[in-house]
Formats: sequence, structure tokens, C-alpha cells
Amino acid sequence: RRIGYAVVGLGSYATRQIMPNFAGCDHARLVALVSGTPAKLDRYGAQYGIPATHRYSYADFDRIRDNPDIDVVYVVLPNAMHAEYSIRAAQAGKHVMCEKPMAISVGECEAMIAACRKAGTRLMIGYRSRFEVHNRLAIDLARGGHVGSTRLITAEHGFPIRPDQWRLDRALSGGGSMMDIGIYSLNAARYLTGEEPVEVSAIDSTDRSDPRFRTVEDRISFLLRFPSGIEANCISSYSSAHNAYRVIGTEGWIDMEPATPYSGHAMRIRKQDAVMPRTLPVPAKNQFAAQLDHLAECVVTGATPIVPGEEGLADMRVIEAIYGSAAERRHVRIGAA
Ligand code: NAD
Repeated sequence: RRIGYAVVGLGSYATRQIMPNFAGCDHARLVALVSGTPAKLDRYGAQYGIPATHRYSYADFDRIRDNPDIDVVYVVLPNAMHAEYSIRAAQAGKHVMCEKPMAISVGECEAMIAACRKAGTRLMIGYRSRFEVHNRLAIDLARGGHVGSTRLITAEHGFPIRPDQWRLDRALSGGGSMMDIGIYSLNAARYLTGEEPVEVSAIDSTDRSDPRFRTVEDRISFLLRFPSGIEANCISSYSSAHNAYRVIGTEGWIDMEPATPYSGHAMRIRKQDAVMPRTLPVPAKNQFAAQLDHLAECVVTGATPIVPGEEGLADMRVIEAIYGSAAERRHVRIGAA
């Protein structure tokens, strides 16, 4: 039988990207919905054939425990709600898929990992780019020495944010562009090197007179130093439109632009004197379906997902160091505790 998912939070990402892509899955299916808005439960319940018995409000979320059709709870809520709903899902005996950023602090990430470990359930973070073919190729090429040994990575992610959304309210988001979109630059620097950064230096250049940025940051630039000597020079922004990374090696570079969109990835490789485009066909199973199926297969086999809770925790450790470095205006060592 296919592994049954309950989606919690019927906002933009859940309804436009996740729910439609169960159609492309081999091992996962959508079986339940959780929302605070009855009209959304009616609308999406009807659209996806979810019976009334499998539609939940936040108040009766814990009743998912009694529904054997639900194997996995997929948390697609504002960041500050990730920890609570992931932990309640684990306590109900369910496996957890949680959106990025995993939570809003290292302590919350650790509590989520502990709750899933105690319950004996899998925990995976929604790092969809790890299931996307160009990013997978970039990882193989970069780590395989295709352009020599990697010396530098540049990564930049940003979009001009509209006002009036929870992302600009620190109580719900836990932070600004870094938590939301800059995390793609950070995560890419980590997956392209396969290393954990040991030191960070960050500059926050947010214009605090902009009413959007009363409680959260706009632009933050950060430099990561890795054990092998690789440096990653990264940008996170809520006021400029970019989505790219470049791996620069001793013999050339691998360029991805856009690097982490929903679709339309484009890669170029420079080696010796030639620049070659390497745009791959979109596979039948796209990054969203592949991500959903991966956790479903892990649930069946008991394997650990390639992006487990520890991966979200690793990013959160660096994000806290980035914020610390920017606030204190100094280099911060990571993992020195
Ligand atoms: P959204 O605002 O479109 O949806 C959030 C949902 O949470 C809404 O349905 C809203 O009704 C519900 N909600 C419940 N309690 C709420 C409260 N107190 N305040 C505000 N909303 C509340 O947001 P989104 O873009 O769908 O983002 C949801 C999560 O998904 C975030 O963690 C975000 O980082 C993540 N996300 C990931 C990707 C990706 O590519 N992996 C893309 C977009 C969003």
C-alpha cells in the first residue's frame, strides 16, 4: 500500500506545489488535511477526494493518532509552528516531513529530533533541491572534482517581499530573508562541499526605515569557511531578485542560474576554454514527487532520509552563528562548544 500523508496548513506552498504532486508519486498518497479554515477543508477535500473523517482542524489535530491511514504528517505552517506540530505528530505516532527552515532555533530543532527518536518515527526536512536533477548533478560534479578541487562557492538567493505576510512578523517567522530564502544559499554551500562550515562572518545591511523590516532582516551577506579551505560567499535578500550559485574550482566552474526554483533550472560548466550548457530534461518524477516518495520509502524500509532532522539542525546552527556574527560584528566560530 502507498504511504498516507496528512498535510497540515493549506497555504500557498501546500496547495500549489505539494498537493498536486502526489499525482506523480509511486509510494506516497494524500489521505488527510489539517486546516483552521473549514472552507479550505471543504474545497481541497472535495478536490482531492478526502472524506470528512480525514479532515481535521488544529483543535482536533491530535486525533490523527486514531487514523491508521495517516503514516506521515507534512508540516507546511509558518516557521514558528513547525516544532509544535512536528512534535505533536511524533507523539501521535506519525512520521514527520517538516518544511524548511526546520524551526526557529537550535533548541527547537533538537527537541523535534528527540521527539521523533523517542516515538521511533522518521523525521525529514523539505529540502526539495536535493531531489532535483540539476542540483544532484552539481553535487556529483563538484564533489567528484569535475572542475578541479573546489576553492570557492558563491550563492545568492532573494526576492522582493510583499508587505503584510507572516514572513515579516518575527514571532511567526523567527527571522527574515535568512530563514526563508537565504537558507537555500547556506544549504547549497553545505551540499556542494559535503562539509560543515567552521567559521562565519556576516554583515546585515537592512534598511530599518523600510516598514517591511521592522522586526526581521532584509539583506544579510555571509562568508563561510570550510575545513578544507573552501570559502562560500553568500547573499540572502528580501529586496532583490536572484537565485544562483557557482562552484569555482582549480580548473573551471559550475554555474546554476536559476539554481533552486520550482522549475526551469539551468546549468553551465566552464572547463578549459569551453563553456557548456548542461540543461537536463525534467524527469517524469519531479523534485516534489521524488521528495514525497523518498520519505515514503524510508518509512517502509526504516532507512534514514538523506535530509533528516539533523540536516535542518545543521543549517539552524549556522543561521544562529550568522545572526550572532552580524549582531556582534565579528567572526564567529561554529561548533566550537
Ligand atoms: P502561506 O502563508 O501561504 O501558508 C501558511 C499556512 O499556514 C496558511 O494556510 C495559514 O492559514 C496557516 N496558518 C496557520 N496558523 C497561522 C498563523 N498563526 N499565522 C499565519 N498563518 C497560519 O505560507 P507558505 O508559503 O505556504 O509557507 C509555509 C511553510 O512552507 C513555511 O515554513 C515556508 O518556509 C515553507 N515553504 C517552503 C518552500 C519550498 O520550496 N520548500 C516554498 C514555500 C514555502
